Amino acid sequence: MSRKHKVAIAGSGLAALATAARLHEQGVKEIAIYANGLGGTPYIAAINFVLPNNPYGDTPEQYAEDMLAAGYHIGNRELVTEMANATVRGYELLCRWGVTFAHNEDGTIKLRHVSGHKYPRSLCQTTDLIGAEIEKVMIPKLKEAGIEFHDRCQVVGLLTEGDKPGGKIEGFTVSENGGEPYNVYAPVVVAAWGGVGNLLGTSTYPDDVRGNTLGMAKQAGADLVDLEFIEFEPMVMMTPPGAVGEPCPTAMLGEGGTLLNSDGERFLLRVRPQGEAGAPKSLINHEIWKEVAAGKGNPHGGIWVDLRHIDEKVLKAYPWFYNRLVNNGCDPKKELLEVGPMPHSFSGGIKVDRNYESSVPGLYAVGEACGGIHGACRCAGNAASQATLSGLLCAEGILRTGELDREIAGQPVSVKRAQEAQEKFLPELQRIAAHALGVFRNGPDLEEALRGAHAILSDPEAAKDSLTVQTALAIHLIAKAALNRRESRGTHNRLDFPESSPEFEREFTL
Ligand SMILES: Cc1cc2nc3c(=O)[nH]c(=O)nc-3n(C[C@H](O)[C@H](O)[C@H](O)COP(=O)(O)OP(=O)(O)OC[C@H]3O[C@@H](n4cnc5c(N)ncnc54)[C@H](O)[C@@H]3O)c2cc1C
Repeated sequence: MSRKHKVAIAGSGLAALATAARLHEQGVKEIAIYANGLGGTPYIAAINFVLPNNPYGDTPEQYAEDMLAAGYHIGNRELVTEMANATVRGYELLCRWGVTFAHNEDGTIKLRHVSGHKYPRSLCQTTDLIGAEIEKVMIPKLKEAGIEFHDRCQVVGLLTEGDKPGGKIEGFTVSENGGEPYNVYAPVVVAAWGGVGNLLGTSTYPDDVRGNTLGMAKQAGADLVDLEFIEFEPMVMMTPPGAVGEPCPTAMLGEGGTLLNSDGERFLLRVRPQGEAGAPKSLINHEIWKEVAAGKGNPHGGIWVDLRHIDEKVLKAYPWFYNRLVNNGCDPKKELLEVGPMPHSFSGGIKVDRNYESSVPGLYAVGEACGGIHGACRCAGNAASQATLSGLLCAEGILRTGELDREIAGQPVSVKRAQEAQEKFLPELQRIAAHALGVFRNGPDLEEALRGAHAILSDPEAAKDSLTVQTALAIHLIAKAALNRRESRGTHNRLDFPESSPEFEREFTL
């Protein structure tokens, strides 16, 4: 069995939906989406757009400057500028496909002020998560428009001309419902498969984002960028089991929440006497790490957040968070919550040009699958904006450069599967990655991770399974990028760099 399309999209998160929507608007037919879940999209609470006539005099230029500054000036200026300039068009695209946003009582659009931005420019829904709303309204409309959705399909390998890395893209191989893999042919493939997911063990990511896709892109010959920059969310629930991975919004600190160590001390006040509210995520991560290293952490490797004194009405205004806790037997009005940093999103990925095309002709990348925009640290709410805007710009880029009528000859399925290899190597790879690639890194651990991933890549047993090889490759690539970046910058912190270095001081001095 095989299938053929003009455009095959891997993933059905926001970036995929925005790409498909804009392609359809431009008259492209035979678009198909293959995905094994909804990714991080349903959990999106905040999405940023700079709208005309906003009350703050905000502009796309200011938005671009904020992104570049938050990213420690590593982001690609051309991509950032084009993304910021498209902000209104991205908002309008979502509106055209039925997405609605919360308004104030006076009828103006509700704008929240989130971390990294000069002005309030974060849109939301107050009854549900905006990401869940996007999936709910856009998927049925896209289906009605004739876009094919192939659910429960795992993309397991990319197809290139002559099976050569860097050759023109020819499609991908999928496994439907875990069954025998088959080939899907398309002259244009869009990687919309999200970020590094659970490569590092427990994270906020859902299970369908596994991160091996980075290795898959490398196998196809795609250039990659900014791989050392993994965003850690500082206050993620570590217990009870049903709530593990749920981020406690940092906005709770603005509502009066406090962070405590095992002595009951508000440790953040030592470095931030004005209080926890508004503290940058990198500072919170840093201080939590110090408490844990000093033996003052919770049993799960984090600290505690105290929300008991916050009015119940305020807590309930974050329904996804409050309900998840209560539904899992945890009452934030009565108990301290065990929270700590967990991997949350990825700023690196496939390197793209201004059409969002990679170095593999015909392979495009959008959303968290592509890198280069957020630089060393991303502004809050900007993953969702970037997913929307990269989708929009990529769809327009495909019209400019995609060879939509290119004929493809077909080739045998070449991915390999060996359950024993997965059972043997995947837990070890996760251990290696979690140990070396956390909030704080050091040269010896990174070198050990490189050696460990390399040993697995050289093992003939591992070579029998494509998922294992791709996972090892992804971890090897991230560890290599982290080892090469000697200085602490953004979300990448090196402990073997002297603490007194100006870079380190700049990051943690407020
Ligand atoms: C709990 C949580 C809360 C978040 N809150 C926010 C927020 O408020 N604001 C914000 O800006 N960002 C937030 N983020 C980040 C944001 O969700 C992601 O960056 C965003 O969803 C990226 O969109 P995407 O379409 O690129 O990827 P995703 O939404 O992650 O979608 C990836 C898609 O690819 C599919 N996929 C993955 N691998 C394969 C494969 N091998 N084969 C087939 N399909 C595959 C997945 O099933 C999914 O359909 C949050 C993330 C999490 C986890």
